[in-house]
Amino acid sequence: MNIGQTNTLSKVSFSIEQTVATIRGVLEQLDVPRTLHQPLFLGNEWNYLKDCLDTGWVSSAGSYVDRIEQMLAEYTGAKRTVAVVNGTAALFIALKLAGVEPGDEVLIPTLTFVATANAVAYCGATPHFVDSEFATLGIDPTKLDHYLGDIADVDSNGAHNRLTGARIKAVIPMHTFGHPVDLDPLVELCKRWNLEMIEDAAESLGSFYKKQHTGTFGRIGILSFNGNKIVTTGGGGALLFNSDEEAKLAKHITTTARRPHKWEYYHDMLGYNFRMPNLNAALGCAQLENLPSFLERKRKLTLRYVEAFRNVPGVKVVEEPPLAHSNYWLNALVLDEEDASQRDALLESTNAIGIMTRPAWTLMHHLPMYKNCPRMDLSVAESLEKRIVNLPSSVPRIGS
Ligand SMILES: *Cc1c(COP(=O)(O)O)cnc(C)c1O
Repeated sequence: MNIGQTNTLSKVSFSIEQTVATIRGVLEQLDVPRTLHQPLFLGNEWNYLKDCLDTGWVSSAGSYVDRIEQMLAEYTGAKRTVAVVNGTAALFIALKLAGVEPGDEVLIPTLTFVATANAVAYCGATPHFVDSEFATLGIDPTKLDHYLGDIADVDSNGAHNRLTGARIKAVIPMHTFGHPVDLDPLVELCKRWNLEMIEDAAESLGSFYKKQHTGTFGRIGILSFNGNKIVTTGGGGALLFNSDEEAKLAKHITTTARRPHKWEYYHDMLGYNFRMPNLNAALGCAQLENLPSFLERKRKLTLRYVEAFRNVPGVKVVEEPPLAHSNYWLNALVLDEEDASQRDALLESTNAIGIMTRPAWTLMHHLPMYKNCPRMDLSVAESLEKRIVNLPSSVPRIGS
């Protein structure tokens, strides 16, 4: 993806009408809903939900919870997984388990959904904002490394921010719209800087980096099954672990931390009750059975967008980074730098005819809660924020 520069010499001008017509053409061709991302239920969803109602297992225990954890481990290659109530709660628990404490700083991209920053704040820690790179839309490992060289020291206790005096405990790469960040250099950076890596893979179920599933590269990874994600449990999330011990502890504290006993209510730790109910897990099991077909059809949709926009001036469709196989969860157009001023007009004209397009999230350092947090130069993320338009990306209905 070459969205960093544009060739101004051969430039033909961007046209809103042509861009809107191209989007509309693709949606009609593949029978894609005009919403940004809506769920599709075409397998065992009704059967499994009915089973929950028929057997009475609707709540915080039941076989579908075990089953979804098993299915997720098999699919992602994680040693163990723990299903929870949503992705935000999963992130919070992951940070706790990784040892993030009040006063620590946690490096996160400024271009992310607010949940990434919120989970850090729930720990009493401070988000420290990192820039993105054009190739992945996620953390730029080279730029981050140089920045840490400028502001931080490292010893056996971790990295320390010379400017704030705080410990920098962890980094949370986020796989934007499902596109994996460049993980090898990031893993290497974490070793050198003594940082824990927690992967926010909320958007990237079905995305692989060098054939390994996203969310399994760091100490812990998390997934989300919110209604707009590639598969949904209604609301839900999961933690991915490479360690049995840590998974066991996660299960313990995401329930009520009750010591197993026939009748006694004895809780040996602070428990959070973040359990995924069996009803939601049942929906998720059925959805996961459809994941391979969803992935195939979503890839078809992106290829169609890419082809349709090949000769449309002023915009590019985001494609998967090198080394990565993306789930293509959410499609995005990136306007050329000099056409960025047209973004809102494009959003207006598409939404006016019921085609739901959206800008990227407002950058975290522009939100009132986080505007005073430490940050590096964020010029790439700021450029992307002005130029990204997300496109309708539901699983195409044709081929069902
Ligand atoms: C959806 C999402 C989450 C959180 O998921 P919920 O299940 O809605 O709590 C976290 N991070 C990112 C990047 C997301 O897109």
